[in-house]
Amino acid sequence: MKNQRFQNLKRIRDEIWNLKDSPLYRYRKKNHYYPVIGEGSHHALVMFIGEAPGRKEAETGRPFCGAAGKILDKLLESIVLPRSDVYITNIVKDRPPQNRDPNPEEIECYSPFLIRQIEIIEPKVIVPLGRFSMRFILEYFGLEKEIGPITKIHGKTFKAESSYGKIKIIPLFHPAVAVYNPGKTPLLEKDFRALKDYK
Ligand code: URA
Repeated sequence: MKNQRFQNLKRIRDEIWNLKDSPLYRYRKKNHYYPVIGEGSHHALVMFIGEAPGRKEAETGRPFCGAAGKILDKLLESIVLPRSDVYITNIVKDRPPQNRDPNPEEIECYSPFLIRQIEIIEPKVIVPLGRFSMRFILEYFGLEKEIGPITKIHGKTFKAESSYGKIKIIPLFHPAVAVYNPGKTPLLEKDFRALKDYK
């Protein structure tokens, strides 16, 4: 019998697989896509939260395995933090059509699963990647006053109280920024250094 965290995360996976009420369920089925639940250590100190799967992710069921994922891998390498030590997921677990931004209905539908993932894994550091997860996480942890443009608050450390104790929230730019604008890579690397203490 696998441990409790594994069982609880598996329950989330099963529920999302059968989430017929989701606004993205039919699109997933029509395209033979997979939902992307999350991957990594069930005891991760650091949890990364992206926005929603892209095509490659929906084709494989793995988060951040396309172009943005390659950048994320390089950023993790730059601070010698193995990908298998962290947990990587998204707010929205199914691919929105044409990679459009997730809409409020989709965030409302999938975010309870994200909250359950956080409660199970109990990361000490939550790293929202990009503005959608930054907004959601800061709001959820009662830090709505801190919400601002991601261009202003990226790389800052916010202290918060979770059901399992004190945590830190460090919003970062979404790695896709460097796909479209490689000149931003040094800035992303600099921000990532804030995570060096959590290995
Ligand atoms: N972008 C995201 O926000 N998440 C992924 O899993 C891939 C790309």
